[in-house]
Amino acid sequence: MSTISSSIQLLPEVEEFLSNGPIKAVVGGKEVSSSGNEIHATIDPGSGETLAEFVALQDSDIDEAVIVAAKAFRQTGWGKMPASERSALLQKLADLMDEKKEVLAQLESIDCGKVHSQALGDIEGCISTFRNFADAAISIELSTSLNVKGHEARVVRHPWGVCGFIVPWNFPMILLGWGLAPALAAGNTVVLKPAEDTPLSALYFGRLAKQAGIPDGVINIVPGLGEVAGAALANHPELKRMSFTGSPEVGQLVAESCGKNLTPVKLELGGKGAAVVFDDVNIEETAQKLVDAITFHAGQVCCDATRWLIHKNIYSQFADECVARLQKIRIGHELDSKTQMGPVVNKVQLDRILGFLKRGSSDGADTLLEGGAAEVEGRNGFYVKPALLAGGLDNVAACQEIFGPVAFLSSFDNEEQAIEMANNTDYGLANSVWSADLTRCNRVAEAMVAGNSWINAHNVFAYGVPYGGVNKSGMGGGVNSIETLMDYYRTQSVVRPLDSLSH
Ligand code: NAD
Repeated sequence: MSTISSSIQLLPEVEEFLSNGPIKAVVGGKEVSSSGNEIHATIDPGSGETLAEFVALQDSDIDEAVIVAAKAFRQTGWGKMPASERSALLQKLADLMDEKKEVLAQLESIDCGKVHSQALGDIEGCISTFRNFADAAISIELSTSLNVKGHEARVVRHPWGVCGFIVPWNFPMILLGWGLAPALAAGNTVVLKPAEDTPLSALYFGRLAKQAGIPDGVINIVPGLGEVAGAALANHPELKRMSFTGSPEVGQLVAESCGKNLTPVKLELGGKGAAVVFDDVNIEETAQKLVDAITFHAGQVCCDATRWLIHKNIYSQFADECVARLQKIRIGHELDSKTQMGPVVNKVQLDRILGFLKRGSSDGADTLLEGGAAEVEGRNGFYVKPALLAGGLDNVAACQEIFGPVAFLSSFDNEEQAIEMANNTDYGLANSVWSADLTRCNRVAEAMVAGNSWINAHNVFAYGVPYGGVNKSGMGGGVNSIETLMDYYRTQSVVRPLDSLSH
């Protein structure tokens, strides 16, 4: 870590975790190394300095982890114990996460470059996801009688077996919770590969699972490179379910591997969301909310509104308000309590954002706010200023996911045109509509083609509301709701014709 002081000091426990590297994987309740002795480093995006080393697992290690998880499914009784017993163990795990939430929040903050208060919010979100699914699983009917003429029939629900998870670097613990909590609550065993840029919080979580008394092999955390460890996991024939969150390009590779093995796969992919703003809104308030959304985690948020479609009557005033507010955003290190927007995750991401600004502008976009690399005194991290581009939606910066604090403005004349513009994308994750007229809001919300439509707000996540994408943004289920839990049971029908035999 940098020697420059931050307003939030690292806890001794965090320092110790970082310095006792290389940090090992958690497989079968044990801390294990890579068979190839491969080690990788994870860096603090706010300083560019190495935080810790961790083991990067190889194909054979992933194979071993899946076999261990399959054995745990068969032998530990995890899938067969009463849901209330499993729930009690998951609540114990949530208690431990709660006890250690500041440790987890600091690890999450420095590994992702996420502002500390936001990282703490993510950890709290993860804890409540575990609690919600642990509670929900107790009341699921595992056997449902069917009223079928001439037959005695029922549907029985069972856990599937080993479920695989591959997650990206932007929300490591939120995504871990959304994935693992329902799978575990339903009685499955899990193997999770964190992103190579941000493995720390998941590796710490793996150690808490052991302390909570979760049987060995039920939760396995396997760090490594995407094309090695990730590919090996997605390819494994023993997996009964796969869940991938990340880019559409890698999602396609994962789906191909799963297709070969006929493993059901859920994909949560990228987005290019629209915010449709009508001329009856409170301009200052709406501008502020969109500015908050695009600068949250430096715009590295899949469901962000990155295309702002503004009614022509308020376009100029709205654009001016946004520029003025974005210029005031305080950029700084993630552990500095004054920071509103931290760094982006790495140099590749920084270069990607700068590249899109250049390409957008040479493709004809107007630059309303220039953006570009930002300097933070005494820090050698990956900082970028917010930017606003404007113009036609065929511009490269309006079509492709940038994953940074960059929004693209365009104006519309009427509702029909706004809907057409919002739907003119390959993605389909999340959009929002902003107006004082709620009838219009509801109409537009339903007409926009995406998994999620929000009204007079953006980035809304209430537990119980299913969240997922369509088209290039994903397929198969979604997360964060009771439907997600149901996804982690396989169903079986059991039938006896009443007239077949007398016994
Ligand atoms: P990415 O696709 O590059 O990587 C995601 C994960 O896949 C990482 O763990 C990586 O190691 C692994 N991976 C890479 N290559 C692999 C391969 N060949 N086989 C198997 N696994 C492999 O994505 P990223 O850059 O880490 O994350 C950003 C993307 O994630 C954006 O597109 C963003 O929109 C998306 N995302 C979507 C959601 C959602 O809920 N829809 C949430 C967060 C992020």
